Amino acid sequence: MLQHDVLVVGAGLAGMRAALEAKKQGVDVAIMSKVYPVRSHSNAAQGGINAALSEDDSWESHAFDTVKGSDYLGDQDAIEILAKEAPQAIIELENFGVTFNRDERGRLGSRNFGGASHARTYFVGDFTGQAILHVMFEQLLRTGLTSYDEWFVTQLVKDDSGAIRGVVAMDIRTGQLHLVKAKAVVLATGGMGRVYEPSTNALICTGDGMALAYRAGALLMDMEMVQFHPTTLKANGALLSEAARGEGAYLLNKDGERFMFKYAPNKLELASRDVVSRAEQIEINEGRGVDGCVLFDLRHLGAEKIMERLPQIRELALEFAGVDIIHEPVPVRPGMHYIMGGIKTDVWGKTNLDGLFAAGECACVNVHGGNRLGANSLLETVVFGKRAGAAAAEYVKSVGDVRVSEAWLRDEEARIEGLLKRPEGEKAAALRLEMGQTMTRNVGVFRTGEQLLEAQAKIQELKQRYQRVSVGDKGRIFNTNLQFVLELENMLDLAEVVVASALFRTESRGAHTRLDYPNRDDANWLKHTVATYTAAGPKLDTRPVTITRWEPQERKY
Ligand SMILES: Cc1cc2nc3c(=O)[nH]c(=O)nc-3n(C[C@H](O)[C@H](O)[C@H](O)COP(=O)(O)OP(=O)(O)OC[C@H]3O[C@@H](n4cnc5c(N)ncnc54)[C@H](O)[C@@H]3O)c2cc1C
Repeated sequence: MLQHDVLVVGAGLAGMRAALEAKKQGVDVAIMSKVYPVRSHSNAAQGGINAALSEDDSWESHAFDTVKGSDYLGDQDAIEILAKEAPQAIIELENFGVTFNRDERGRLGSRNFGGASHARTYFVGDFTGQAILHVMFEQLLRTGLTSYDEWFVTQLVKDDSGAIRGVVAMDIRTGQLHLVKAKAVVLATGGMGRVYEPSTNALICTGDGMALAYRAGALLMDMEMVQFHPTTLKANGALLSEAARGEGAYLLNKDGERFMFKYAPNKLELASRDVVSRAEQIEINEGRGVDGCVLFDLRHLGAEKIMERLPQIRELALEFAGVDIIHEPVPVRPGMHYIMGGIKTDVWGKTNLDGLFAAGECACVNVHGGNRLGANSLLETVVFGKRAGAAAAEYVKSVGDVRVSEAWLRDEEARIEGLLKRPEGEKAAALRLEMGQTMTRNVGVFRTGEQLLEAQAKIQELKQRYQRVSVGDKGRIFNTNLQFVLELENMLDLAEVVVASALFRTESRGAHTRLDYPNRDDANWLKHTVATYTAAGPKLDTRPVTITRWEPQERKY
């Protein structure tokens, strides 16, 4: 029988940090991931991680920038924790062995990032996530905890009282399903980027944890808040990190005009991401773009700086746009990058379901509100991953024997058997593409009620067609085809919630810009949206925003 005190689902930065902390508290911990841990999307983070670490900076300044970046929708108690605990988190990572870049004086070096009033982004070249994830993995291996690599969670399991007490998961290598019991489950399953097509996110970012928690009764908060990153490549949506703008790269329209002077005269290209993405989209929509893009110019940085600090970006542009950024500007456009919303938690990662915790991109604490500042997400994974791990370990000490019915396993076996037995039908890949393209077209940088209704109807149609999806590969061993079909179900549920939440919020705030409701409406909408699962679709409601010291102001960059 497989049983643990704390089961962490997800082995990206949030999951690893949670597991490490829980293990430190002396309880039995296991971590589970659908990919080998270091292949998690945290590995792809390029630009860096924020902290107010230098003498002329302060946590208050970091917190205020984050509050303003969130368009006043972030919960300020959580943001204060994020900013206050950041310096220690960076030092801890450095002590673990992360080789952060250094400045001329040999101290930790920082770079500028969007929406920040100080250079407070710490980095390792343009592969910061990879550097941190590998170091964290070493730390985790040292503890000798149980690691279920390439296990895919298909269901959260409850006891008779309704508390979450484990998961049903498929060992992908054999296809066999297992019931894994736990006194507490920490979800650290990452984002849902691939609900959109294209996206900067890895193909594995399918929002599984959010969908599982939602169907189990957890609240999904602020799901209309989807971040479009200003500099993605047209060919495949690949990201060119904000580090490039941090180092001084700028944006031009087809006339060679540095158009950000019109939209954000103070911060220019380093305004927050929602502001820069809207500016680009306006330039493109009004005919001043180049083939659906604007131009991203790095030439003035010089070959030496590009090769030292942005080598991956050069490679990406060469490979996917055929452009050498040392010599030519590269066409870029806004692309889906991040979900600010997620599973609602308190500042200790606790959800509204007993026994269930969440941290990282799948969670909504809520530190990002309407718009996340670049380099605050890696920070969130370590600060709130650690807290969720500690809180889960503390919680399990008061939980007695775990009693869950074997029926959970039998039901999942029957469901998956049923999927495999379905006759020839709809193809999951086609549905996934239609969903992704619909979301990009109708739930993008700009939205209208009409577009959202169209998206809603399309998602309903796709959900109907999903009932006829067949799995081409009937085997059990490494059946990625089956996994794709299961992921698609999760993505369709989340697409439905994003659209419903976007329809519900009749104002424009942060990344959510409704052309039919163009203004921020603090009187009615200084509120979070929360979605609850019902068989008939998401039920929407609101929750208050926590304000500690920063009253809402007009937002200018
Ligand atoms: C290209 C790119 C660049 C970025 N750059 C930066 C940056 O410079 N700075 C910054 O702050 N942020 C950046 N971000 C955002 C940041 O990297 C992510 O938000 C963060 O790393 C998410 O970490 P996580 O631990 O929550 O999830 P992830 O790292 O995505 O890990 C999710 C884990 O959950 C597991 N999982 C998911 N579903 C299941 C399932 N059903 N069963 C079992 N396991 C499952 C996966 O296997 C994986 O281990 C970037 C994001 C991208 C896409």
